[in-house]
Amino acid sequence: MSSPAQARIDLDAISGNVAVVREQAGGAEVMAMVKAEAYGHGLVPAARAALAGGATWLGVAKLDEGLRLRAAGVVGVPVLVCLGVPGEDYDRGVADGLDFAVGAPWLLDELTAAAERAGRPVRVHLKADTGMSRGGATPEDWPGLVDAALAAEAAGAVQVVGLMSHFACADELDHPSVPRQLATFTDMVESAEKAGVRPEVRHLANSAAALTLPDARFDLVRPGIATYGLSPAPSLGSFGLRPAMTLTASTALVKRVPAGSGVSYGHTYVTDRETTLAVVPAGYGDGVPRHGSNVLPVLAGGKRRTIAGRVCMDQFVIDLGDDPLAAGDEVVLFGPGDQGEPTAQDWADALDTISYEIVTRIGGRVPRVYEGGPAAD
Ligand SMILES: *Cc1c(COP(=O)(O)O)cnc(C)c1O
Repeated sequence: MSSPAQARIDLDAISGNVAVVREQAGGAEVMAMVKAEAYGHGLVPAARAALAGGATWLGVAKLDEGLRLRAAGVVGVPVLVCLGVPGEDYDRGVADGLDFAVGAPWLLDELTAAAERAGRPVRVHLKADTGMSRGGATPEDWPGLVDAALAAEAAGAVQVVGLMSHFACADELDHPSVPRQLATFTDMVESAEKAGVRPEVRHLANSAAALTLPDARFDLVRPGIATYGLSPAPSLGSFGLRPAMTLTASTALVKRVPAGSGVSYGHTYVTDRETTLAVVPAGYGDGVPRHGSNVLPVLAGGKRRTIAGRVCMDQFVIDLGDDPLAAGDEVVLFGPGDQGEPTAQDWADALDTISYEIVTRIGGRVPRVYEGGPAAD
């Protein structure tokens, strides 16, 4: 079917990638991170595919993402909300049985109050700041948070299910912060356990650590980008992962123009001879970065072409030379790479960013078309 722009999502690739990480993680459980629409792949279908691949936990950033999973019938699996904000509807979070990462006293207080109203304990994972200086309690604040959680647990309002932290530089082999964070986490876990915490799971590893740092795996690993088949550390290889997203568009118009034709806003590209141009209906409104003007490769008619001139809101132009292409023919913007198309990593390299940003920003206007995967229920 011809379509302005669509993202085909290979659900079997997602399941397979989780299996790859599970194999690598040697016995640790897998929490598939499905925040931000599963890095652009679609929250619920990606979550189901990850579970089919052997994930036994799901992780999201925001409360609303967890609520959406429950509303879609993803139940009977723990879902960890990593980033709470004061004043959110924690009553609903508790009612839906979500887990919460807790790195600050205010969140413990709000969750405890919600749990008391509900008459059931809330499951929390105490979050340590071991050196990223983002979320989590610093080593100085840690004993206070641990004691407050233990008191809430004794009162029946809280169940401390996990102890967790997050790496800043696990994608850089030999970065000195990595062993430091690992040692700090080990110390903070030990002090919490000495104080009386009995966690079900201790967890620290993102994709990069899960795939390259056996010592960081603990009881559970939290792969995000690897779940979608993109390498967390491209310089170290692909780890046998398969990219799950293929972004395509059908050309809207193909036409001959003379030499000297300025193309798109600002005329930053000018044809140097008579040539054929094609209009591709995907623009920055769909998540094609405007910085990709005159930079990003796409596959058209079996050949790599570079976007000609500026990326517009809804469309961009490519210069086909004398190659024949008709309106409605498919252009592949990026995909797994095995048909000669660029990968999301190629786009990231061309733009000096990371593949995470490329796939995550593919917008809501682009329909996701799911292929393979667990049977729908
Ligand atoms: C996003 C996230 C991850 C996954 O990171 P990747 O580098 O994509 O594997 C793991 N843990 C937490 C807390 C996260 O927010």
